[in-house]
Amino acid sequence: MAREYFRVLVVDLTKERASIEKIEGREEFIGGSGLGTLLFRKYGLKDEPWHSDGQPLIFTIGPLTGYFPLMSKTVCAFKSPYHDQFTESHAGGRSALSLFFADLDALVITGRAKAPSMLVVGSRKVEIKDARYLWGLDVIQTGKIVRRVVDESRGHRSILRIGPAGENLCAYACINADTYRHFGRLGAGAVMGRKNLKAIVILGDALFEAPDKREYKKAYGEIFKRIEESGMMKKYHDLGTPANLVQLNRLKSLPWRNLTDTHDPDVNRISGETFAQRHLLRNLACSGCPIGCIHLGYIREKFMKDHRYYFEQVAYDYEPIFSVGCMLGITNPVDVLKLILEIDALGLDVISAGVALAWATEALQTGLIGKDHTLCTLRFGHTKGYLEAARHLAMGANEFYRLLAHGTLKAARHYGGEDFSCVLGQEMAGYATGELFFTAQALGFRHSHLDTGAYSKEQKEQDIDLEEAIEFLIQDEARRVLLNSMVSCLFARAVYTNEYLAMCLDSVGYHEIAKNMEELSEKIRFWRWKLRFDTGFKPREVTIPKRFYKVESWKGKVDPAFLDSLKEAYGKRLEELVSEGEKKWT
Ligand code: SF4
Repeated sequence: MAREYFRVLVVDLTKERASIEKIEGREEFIGGSGLGTLLFRKYGLKDEPWHSDGQPLIFTIGPLTGYFPLMSKTVCAFKSPYHDQFTESHAGGRSALSLFFADLDALVITGRAKAPSMLVVGSRKVEIKDARYLWGLDVIQTGKIVRRVVDESRGHRSILRIGPAGENLCAYACINADTYRHFGRLGAGAVMGRKNLKAIVILGDALFEAPDKREYKKAYGEIFKRIEESGMMKKYHDLGTPANLVQLNRLKSLPWRNLTDTHDPDVNRISGETFAQRHLLRNLACSGCPIGCIHLGYIREKFMKDHRYYFEQVAYDYEPIFSVGCMLGITNPVDVLKLILEIDALGLDVISAGVALAWATEALQTGLIGKDHTLCTLRFGHTKGYLEAARHLAMGANEFYRLLAHGTLKAARHYGGEDFSCVLGQEMAGYATGELFFTAQALGFRHSHLDTGAYSKEQKEQDIDLEEAIEFLIQDEARRVLLNSMVSCLFARAVYTNEYLAMCLDSVGYHEIAKNMEELSEKIRFWRWKLRFDTGFKPREVTIPKRFYKVESWKGKVDPAFLDSLKEAYGKRLEELVSEGEKKWT
């Protein structure tokens, strides 16, 4: 299966045509993030807006997908509705393995369907189906119907779909992947909505022999042993990421009520331990993962008409508990699950939606907006209003919600309240750890807590000077670019050291990649940033709202001068990275 080129299915929805392209560059661009940049350079329209019919929506996998555990992510590359710049979003679930078994390294979708449609692709199939009857349905209903309509390759099939938020072009609409995973941030769901694409079904319908080589079997065994010994199986399986709530609260780094506080004695009500003991139904895993870190909580409700009980299953993680729990002052775990379920079903990114509603609550409290804007009462700790507001947000119920759906800062610029909009490039992730994380998210490539491990470093180290901080951001990003090009789950970053990655690549025949990993990741990093700058990114124009300057964590108050100099120095370093790369690689 190791091949020197990328096998890419390109579907044009406007012309209703598809072709298989052999694209050179495997040994330079690896796969995942690298392949996303390569394909965006080929198919992307840098100077046209995100909603141009011709803009591509790209899904890529890596060279080790299907061969090794935890190579489980798919990278989605696109021009973002949030800021109209090139970006990526990553998701687990089944899509990576389904693409692999569809014999594809990537799927590129261009054009715009005439009417709401569903795209079905497999190793021997491409079909654009009418999906008008699905338009307007939420992601749960859509999933149920699609599973019945496309009744092939069960267990090897991945279903990606959008909800009303994507149809209404919300800039933080997500693509739901197999119900419990998401291409969450920066609006890939709106790109699907704009293309009139309600769902994509990937059929993993081919069969391949596992490599019958001693070298491969040995490498597989060693990786599996490392996973077992790393503690991942226990740490991520048992409590999972929600274990962070108590830890961050103790460090005064957990954002509460729109970041007006960083700790609260009520944290135990929504801690990882509480969810695991009282609300956990079962664990799930992405395809190809032996860990199973996906925690499914349950909500038990009495159905009024027949007095029967029914259950809803909801995936919870640290980030959604932060965004619709403490950020909104909600400390009832069942209410947290209900909010995640509702926001998820609407096809909104839960992190962005929670943070946007936290800003709206404070804007309402301070009189910048009224109930004629919010159409319901928003008060920290009160779930009912947030359930209603989430629906208004996804539907674009009025001008206020339509603007908020473009991003919190955009609404704040119009209505006031920029100072307390918790936006770091996009709505913040749940770490009020200090200057390093605020800079890392504000200027990071995906504006994601996963661009670097800044949030983690800051939890462990008290004094980080400017030079060390910049060096850390640069080094850590390069390593993650490599892992994202392999499409490794980032939880496995300690397992897949460069040495072990090289062993795995060699065992399946990718010797050139194995030899040059560090240089390749530098090159891919350059191309990602180059595309980002070419589509309008200007680090000096990124602002950090005043609320972040007032944060007090376990280390004391944020040092405004240090935050400003970090932001300036990191922005400058990114500009240099692109200009140095242009001399070397263009
Ligand atoms: S550890 Fe969790 S996120 Fe990572 S591949 Fe496994 S189930 Fe998916």
